[in-house]
Amino acid sequence: SGYHKVLEENRKLYNQVQDLKGNIRVYCRVRPFLPGQGSPSTVGSIDEGNITIVTPSKSGKEGRKTFSFNKVFGPSATQDEVFLDTQPLIRSVLDGYNVCIFAYGQTGSGKTYTMSGPKNMTEQTQGVNYRALGDLFKFAEQRRGAFIYDIAVQMIEIYNEQVRDLLVTDEIRNNSQNGLNVPDASLVRVASTMDVMELMNVGQKNRAVGATALNDRSSRSHSCLTVHVQGRDLTSGTILRGCMHLVDLAGSERVDKSEVTGERLKEAQHINKSLSALGDVIASLAQKNAHVPYRNSKLTQLLQDSLGGQAKTLMFVHISPESDAVGETISTLKFAERVSTVELGAARLNK
Ligand code: ADP
Repeated sequence: SGYHKVLEENRKLYNQVQDLKGNIRVYCRVRPFLPGQGSPSTVGSIDEGNITIVTPSKSGKEGRKTFSFNKVFGPSATQDEVFLDTQPLIRSVLDGYNVCIFAYGQTGSGKTYTMSGPKNMTEQTQGVNYRALGDLFKFAEQRRGAFIYDIAVQMIEIYNEQVRDLLVTDEIRNNSQNGLNVPDASLVRVASTMDVMELMNVGQKNRAVGATALNDRSSRSHSCLTVHVQGRDLTSGTILRGCMHLVDLAGSERVDKSEVTGERLKEAQHINKSLSALGDVIASLAQKNAHVPYRNSKLTQLLQDSLGGQAKTLMFVHISPESDAVGETISTLKFAERVSTVELGAARLNK
């Protein structure tokens, strides 16, 4: 039955690879050129899930490198299109799944645009965060009569390995219950898109208060909107609990250690540490290692329940199109490839 053993082994490998594909998705998004920018583009071509980056070389000859992801959104992709491909994942929270969505990339590459939206937001330019909650309310409403849902949110910021609650106002403090992952962070029930808008404003104001005059702190901290969903099946009485983290990560740019000192160096070291800890956790989950190094950073500790197991993870990897950003763009895409399923799947098959 050597033959059957081989068949069985093949089936196992196939299932493992399928699992990886199902659990970790990577979408790449290219920011359009901003008004007034005229530098040539570093993006050679985009074809479904493939993106080719053109790298200049000293001899004047161009290099080309292609990266593959689950999907690549070009510069003209709308917020609507981006959300449409995220919607099924978000809805699975109502069925009791834990979901994690990250925005990764260098400062200025469009992370906040994807997750929240631009400064002067219209309905068309609303980001994933608003759309996600709006969609959960809508879907919960459609299931009315069969399920009762309770939806509550937390907003926190991680800066230099310190966690800060972004939803503290006196009024909210009085009405809040205890959070799950961050026992001290306010957990606030929301029932409408209006509630969410108000909370986001509170969060954004609190975030700005922490910013020093010297540097824009928001690009050097991770911000996380967590949505807790509890649903009761009215027929069976079963309770389903799901949770979704929407994370706008700190800018991934490498800083030249010889050029920064003091606070700035400390920030850079903390960011480096937490982003690589995140990469390590995702890689070790994908390889189904017995030990997953969650405790190496605040970020991975917070997300522990929502990474791995039955959790679903999506990483939006952002790149800037300018050719002067090509160095960061390549290292961003390499990081993304490291967390992406395809490469890990191949590594496993070679074992
Ligand atoms: P990050 O959060 O990565 O630092 P931002 O989201 O702040 O970057 O984006 C930088 C600038 O580019 C902002 O002015 C933003 O509105 C704009 N921008 C980013 N992505 C897009 C996009 N897809 N379409 C139009 N403008 C965008």
